[in-house]
Amino acid sequence: MIGDPVLRTRANEVTEVDGALVRLTDDMFTTMYDVAGIGLAAPQVGVRQRFFVYDHGDAAGVILNPRIVESDGEWAFDEGCLSIPDLSFEIVRPKEIHLVGIDLDGNEVSIEADELEARLFQHELDHLDGVLLVDHLDEDQEREAKRVLRERAVAAGMAAPSGGGLRLT
Ligand SMILES: [Zn+2]
Repeated sequence: MIGDPVLRTRANEVTEVDGALVRLTDDMFTTMYDVAGIGLAAPQVGVRQRFFVYDHGDAAGVILNPRIVESDGEWAFDEGCLSIPDLSFEIVRPKEIHLVGIDLDGNEVSIEADELEARLFQHELDHLDGVLLVDHLDEDQEREAKRVLRERAVAAGMAAPSGGGLRLT
């Protein structure tokens, strides 16, 4: 998953909602629930389009062409990513955001999100812009991430990555 160049590409705006896209979002919910995630962005399943699915317990949905129009505050939260399994880091991001977009019926979506929901939306939006969790790490966190990924690579019988930044793509 992490070696997929789609994860490093800015996804395209959704211009048309057809049956195939609706089925894809159904599959994405299934995938997300299978791994006990609360959000999944299209690039994570190899699709270069700007949408994500989410379900954080209190609300669930599909948001197409999402944009953050306002953000406020700061909140540190331990954040993980389905594309980098079992690795999470405390990342500071805005605490509150105002997210707009459209749903599968073409209706406008406008959500004032706080804390976990705001974090989830920002994380998924990052995926649509080709940004990964590792891009938010400070020096110590990056060192730790490299160490864990190197150990995993060795355990998997792959060549250990040689220095010069995280080789995740
Ligand atoms: Zn992620």
